[in-house]
Amino acid sequence: MTCAEFSFHVPSLEELAGVMQKGLKDNFADVQVSVVDCPDLTEEPFTFPVKGICGKTRIAEVGGVPYLLPLVNQKKVYDLNKIAKEIKLPGAFILGAGAGPFQTLGFNSEFMPVIQTESEHKPPVNGSYFAHVNPADGGCLLEKYSEKHHDFECALLANLFASEGQPGKVIEVKAKRRTGPLNFVTCMRQTLEKHYGNKPVGMGGTFIIQKGKVKSHIMVRAHVCSFWFGLPVLVSRDPSICGFDLRLEHTHFFSHHGEGGHYHYDTTPDTVEYLGYFLPAEFLYRIDQPKESHSIGRD
Ligand SMILES: [Zn+2]
Repeated sequence: MTCAEFSFHVPSLEELAGVMQKGLKDNFADVQVSVVDCPDLTEEPFTFPVKGICGKTRIAEVGGVPYLLPLVNQKKVYDLNKIAKEIKLPGAFILGAGAGPFQTLGFNSEFMPVIQTESEHKPPVNGSYFAHVNPADGGCLLEKYSEKHHDFECALLANLFASEGQPGKVIEVKAKRRTGPLNFVTCMRQTLEKHYGNKPVGMGGTFIIQKGKVKSHIMVRAHVCSFWFGLPVLVSRDPSICGFDLRLEHTHFFSHHGEGGHYHYDTTPDTVEYLGYFLPAEFLYRIDQPKESHSIGRD
């Protein structure tokens, strides 16, 4: 597998908070961005396998849409324990968006990796979800991967945010009532692109949609009382002159009420409330980049 490495520009958290505060204001009525201690992610509502998203942050983009379209490339299966070693962080805690391992599941699915990869000291923990269309009624089925399978794989393409999973300082973003056309993640990414220009910045983490509804590939449905959890991975600009063929933003989400998928935007701008925790990434790794590319299916 090919693997290219790039060092991101890494602004201080205080600076980044200021930049995001200003940028998000153009798109949301009520914005509060600050530097805080990462909430304990092992607790409700997150219940992740680690306490935080801090330490040796990295973004990895693995594979790409050309392995999915026009035809599924059956060979493209990736073990996230191996990916963690590839990005020089064995034992990494990995969040993000990808395609589920079709060879195990028997069908294609949206994959939400939440994985503590294997290390010398700890066995791996797979808290990932996958979502697919229920053949019975055309609705959405969200399942916890580890309830049926014991591998740590995904397939075809993945956008990943990796860290040591430590507690520490993070950027907290509260954004309420969307007044502009951009979705939450696109607004953050464009803000970074505008401010940092040819010094690419990468960012990842997790957010909760506390109120409102979401549009995804698989479903649009209202669950006003429940949270949606998003796992965004974003890069302000492709740093390579030849092009890493990056997907500059990719967000999958899940919920504890049985629905999840690929996040496009919220459909309730007047009531939507986002609460997120993010960190800039130190490095970008481009793994198994497709040799031949196209621009289909990147939204
Ligand atoms: Zn997706």
